[in-house]
Amino acid sequence: METEQGHGLMTEFANFLVVGGAMVLLLSLFPVNQLRRRLPYSPCRVAWMFLSVLICCFFVGYLLYGMLFWNDARQWHDLVVPVIFFLGAIFVLIVCLLSARTADDVTRLCHLEYENIMDPLLGIYNRRYMDRCLRSEAEKSRRYGLELAVLLIDVDFFKKINDSYGHLVGDRVLQALAQMVKGSVRDFDMVFRYGGEEIMVLLPYTTLSGAENLAERLRQWVSERCMVEEVCNGAPIDVRITISIGVSAFNLDVENEGEMVARADMALYRAKQNGRNRVEIADSAQLKQAGKGVSA
Ligand code: GH3
Ligand code: MG
Ligand code: MG
Repeated sequence: METEQGHGLMTEFANFLVVGGAMVLLLSLFPVNQLRRRLPYSPCRVAWMFLSVLICCFFVGYLLYGMLFWNDARQWHDLVVPVIFFLGAIFVLIVCLLSARTADDVTRLCHLEYENIMDPLLGIYNRRYMDRCLRSEAEKSRRYGLELAVLLIDVDFFKKINDSYGHLVGDRVLQALAQMVKGSVRDFDMVFRYGGEEIMVLLPYTTLSGAENLAERLRQWVSERCMVEEVCNGAPIDVRITISIGVSAFNLDVENEGEMVARADMALYRAKQNGRNRVEIADSAQLKQAGKGVSA
């Protein structure tokens, strides 16, 4: 009598393990599908789809096994396969949940990293990231003798734009300028917000004259285009600006990246003094005279 009861329990337990395992497999399809939907079309997405199909195949396999061996567990070793099925399904569920969770964490980290290096208003890199990039690009330039140039861009009479149209329009003008500069440089050039309405462009593999050409092109584009279209007192107006640019390069007579930026700053100052809407090239003699070398 007792052994019959024991057999009954064992049979029910074996049935439970197989059906429970099948349900756990079904559950693991949720994190897999969540993950798959977040991925772009790529081999990785195809691989997760393949995994979903595999899980479905295993699910059908569990059901078939359950049908074939329903109420068939009589000895303790008849439990071995159902236990392995159940633990296997738990393993699949844990791996799928962990993958989805890891993807969440990595996405959050990337988002934080992005926010950490971007200027939220202009949508270009911020000053913190600029310092990092300047250091590493200067190091590469020094070590491998690569060309490196920098542009320092300042909007002319920007206070007047703010005073005439308000700060919100001023913000939109800066955004348009930043996006225009970003769209005009190569993929590996870097555009940073240097200060209020000042933008720095770091140009790896670029000579001083190459940087001067780019600066002249940018200056001309900006002076010829309307940055923002506004309606003022019911009448449409084009908000136009001009920019001044200081150009400098990391060549042999520059001690460090700080000096390169200081030279671009002085060239920009000269562009302002000489009438604005101009490009000026760094002049090493002037920097030495002024004794303004900035150490990094
Ligand atoms: P200059 O030709 O000599 O450069 O004249 P300027 O009026 O442009 O003078 P300056 O470059 O010193 O002025 C910068 C102004 O930019 C001051 C500040 O009110 C404005 N500004 C700085 N950051 C922002 C910003 O994020 N949004 C807006 N709307 N204005 C800003
Ligand atoms: Mg300024
Ligand atoms: Mg200005």
